[in-house]
Amino acid sequence: MDMSEMDMGSMSTGVGIPTFFQFQKYYWAVVGTVIAIATVANVLNRLLAQQRLHDKSDTPSKPKSIFFQTYATITATTRELGNAALQPINLKGHTLRLAPLGPVSLMLANLVTIIVMMFYGFDTENWLNWEDIGYRAGFMSICQLPLVILLAGKQNIIGLLTGTSYDYLNWYHRWVSRTLWLSATIHMGFWFRDYGKYDYIVTMIKTDYFTQHGFAAWCVLTFIFLTSFAPVRRWNYEFFVIQHIVTMAGFLAAVYLHAPGEVRFWVWIPIGFVCFDRFVRILVLAFANLSIVHFWSNQQRPLFANKATFTPLPGNVTRITIPNPLINWNPGQHVFLGCHSIAPLQSHPFTIMSIPSDNKLEFLVRAEKGGTRRFFRSATKHNALLGETQSTEKVKRTVFIEGPYGAVRSLRQFDSVVLLAGGMGCTYTLPLMRDIVHAWKLESQSAGTLGSKISSMAPERLATTKRIRFVWVIKSRSQLSWLETELQSVLQDLQNFRQQYRETDKEIEISIYLTCDESLERPMVVQHPFTMATHEDNSRDIEKGGSPDEKVVQAENVVVRSGSPSSGSTDAIQDTGCGVKKTCCCSTVIEDEDDISSMPQCTCSGPAASNTVAGAEKQKETALSSSSTSSLTDLKGFKTLAGRPHPRSIIGNVLERAQGESAVVHKTLDIITLFHKPTVQSSTRVLNLLRTASAHASEVANATLDQASDVSSTSSSTASSSKKQIPLRDDFEIEVTESLPTPDQLSTIIDYLGSKGVRASAVVEGAASKEDALKKLSESGFVRPIVVDWNNGRAVVGENQSEILRLLRKEDDSI
Ligand SMILES: Cc1cc2nc3c(=O)[nH]c(=O)nc-3n(C[C@H](O)[C@H](O)[C@H](O)COP(=O)(O)OP(=O)(O)OC[C@H]3O[C@@H](n4cnc5c(N)ncnc54)[C@H](O)[C@@H]3O)c2cc1C
Repeated sequence: MDMSEMDMGSMSTGVGIPTFFQFQKYYWAVVGTVIAIATVANVLNRLLAQQRLHDKSDTPSKPKSIFFQTYATITATTRELGNAALQPINLKGHTLRLAPLGPVSLMLANLVTIIVMMFYGFDTENWLNWEDIGYRAGFMSICQLPLVILLAGKQNIIGLLTGTSYDYLNWYHRWVSRTLWLSATIHMGFWFRDYGKYDYIVTMIKTDYFTQHGFAAWCVLTFIFLTSFAPVRRWNYEFFVIQHIVTMAGFLAAVYLHAPGEVRFWVWIPIGFVCFDRFVRILVLAFANLSIVHFWSNQQRPLFANKATFTPLPGNVTRITIPNPLINWNPGQHVFLGCHSIAPLQSHPFTIMSIPSDNKLEFLVRAEKGGTRRFFRSATKHNALLGETQSTEKVKRTVFIEGPYGAVRSLRQFDSVVLLAGGMGCTYTLPLMRDIVHAWKLESQSAGTLGSKISSMAPERLATTKRIRFVWVIKSRSQLSWLETELQSVLQDLQNFRQQYRETDKEIEISIYLTCDESLERPMVVQHPFTMATHEDNSRDIEKGGSPDEKVVQAENVVVRSGSPSSGSTDAIQDTGCGVKKTCCCSTVIEDEDDISSMPQCTCSGPAASNTVAGAEKQKETALSSSSTSSLTDLKGFKTLAGRPHPRSIIGNVLERAQGESAVVHKTLDIITLFHKPTVQSSTRVLNLLRTASAHASEVANATLDQASDVSSTSSSTASSSKKQIPLRDDFEIEVTESLPTPDQLSTIIDYLGSKGVRASAVVEGAASKEDALKKLSESGFVRPIVVDWNNGRAVVGENQSEILRLLRKEDDSI
């Protein structure tokens, strides 16, 4: 049978049932409608941003017309629903972390559409339909190919139309591809079911040209399906990419040979998309790297224009700086960067930390296992450690960049902007803040050119933002050197702006949270085991709020609080600082930054000491005498606190004062809660283990169980698994609580444990069920320690260290 010339597409399988081609068209009508809606939203968002900049009122970010009010309500509701987190699924001890509700719903809608179109009008039990179902499933499978490829490209039309970044679309690529695999399996399954009636499957595979190629295509697709899951991508990303491209080419070739001629165009379309993507990427590459492409520029540059310096920073981080770049970019975007003299044939994505007006590309790169580790090693060879380079002679290396990529909605259109980041997340939030401040600066410059009427004339509006709240959570003050200069320049710019344009209502509030600082422990542990340290420096005035007459003096608080236990680990006395065996980590959550007296005390190395105001005052004095004179106190204009932020109250405070639409960018850490009881020894050991792992995770990508278990050498449960390598997740927040869980929390914990076969009685003594546990929950009946990973839906009761470390293991946020 020569199917290549067959005309199946125009066939209908029954009266009133669309033809195969019509089904394909309907599918694309659905896909096209979704893309069109996203495109319209994108265009409206852009118009809205422009309209706000031209709005001369005091509240430009507030939607005024009924149309924009309705639009704002719809988009806010959609965003809220779309971003709603779904509970992770536990599969035999493995956690399946789900994307938010929006993307999951879209992918389920895609799946349902495909399934309905494949089976519409068929009775799947009737063998007379099996061949037709096989045909229709084949038609529905092949028509998904363009979507799969469109979503995979770095340069793709969907991203362009909808203003969506390729990396976001890549998640859809994976799930559309998995739907394709399912429909291809159904296509093959019904053909085999049909052949199976006559026991003909093997014969067909051996002899029939179309069956052979179809089966080969399915095998290759299955291989791609299996190798695209997170563990393989994590194992070796470069290998994953190469094999993915090669096998995809093999799959397309097999499909081409398998498919009837009338549907082969569905193979040509994705090939066209791939060629387009590659062609544009080559152009982008040439534009970003070759100076001859910029023939109109008078600047003298080498042929390969990007020469980078590599500077090592604390925390195994490398600062990469490329002066005078050829490209332009928007804050929040990233490029792929390769330095083949250090890490040959590798190219990795890094967020651009600088803004275009810096006239340099700057990146902070944390050393992982591969190329990034080599960057750090190479940098340490040529520079003095700890931030500022001591070496006068900087080695410049040729690097290649591809990009910029990533679509970020401009934050200049929002009244208030909250930027929350943990660790390396600052590379994303810092340029977003600096971009707004730069707009303010340009506004002030344009006001300056207006002449003497500075104070009464409003400059051209480049940003409607009035308030920026920047929160950064880091382990130790040494990491401040990553952003020190930039943060100071932001505050300097703000001050200049205020001096020049006095009626401004612009505000920036910056808080740095230290979770595991060396200085917390050194003075305290060695000299004053029970002290809490507070250092206040009121040396700085910052104007805050409206008119110059109402100048508010805001004290700079450098609050460093620690408590040391009377019992617990002796490690704290022997070792200082963070890291293996160095156990000072601050895990308390600060709900109100301004209210020092109500601030919870940092539980460093054990249970919190009492936190009375009188005690605090006394401790303050002690601390002043031992406070550090390092760069921390030189940083004017932002609060530095020991502890963890309380994002909800931070966001709430900003939103309360907002006079228009606001934006929240949240790049913080996973939260691990320990339900702790200081009097229970195993609980203290678990606390020490978590602190060590937390500190260690940020320092070295690969923690080992034997290192971690050193902390509690008294524990007996570690020996068997102690040599196994476990890569811990980069950063996480430890929340230690001695309170009982809320009913919701208890119910969630029991669910997490239940999926691993742990009974409710393991959590609440004597409880027969979850309902019973909720009734019987009491201080004496609640079992501690319990470690809970809320982000990934896991919990460990007791002190099984290998299980706790498994819980802390790095999880890809998407499969
Ligand atoms: C959009 C984006 C922006 C990023 N920005 C920064 C940044 O500003 N600073 C920073 O330190 N890190 C950033 N990262 C992470 C950084 O790209 C990885 O840490 C780096 O690629 C790891 O390389 P490696 O060979 O040393 O690590 P490996 O140890 O080989 O891999 C570590 C992890 O990185 C992933 N990875 C490796 N290569 C790639 C790649 N080419 N593309 C995507 N993922 C990869 C692996 O799947 C694995 O999970 C960003 C990642 C993305 C996707």
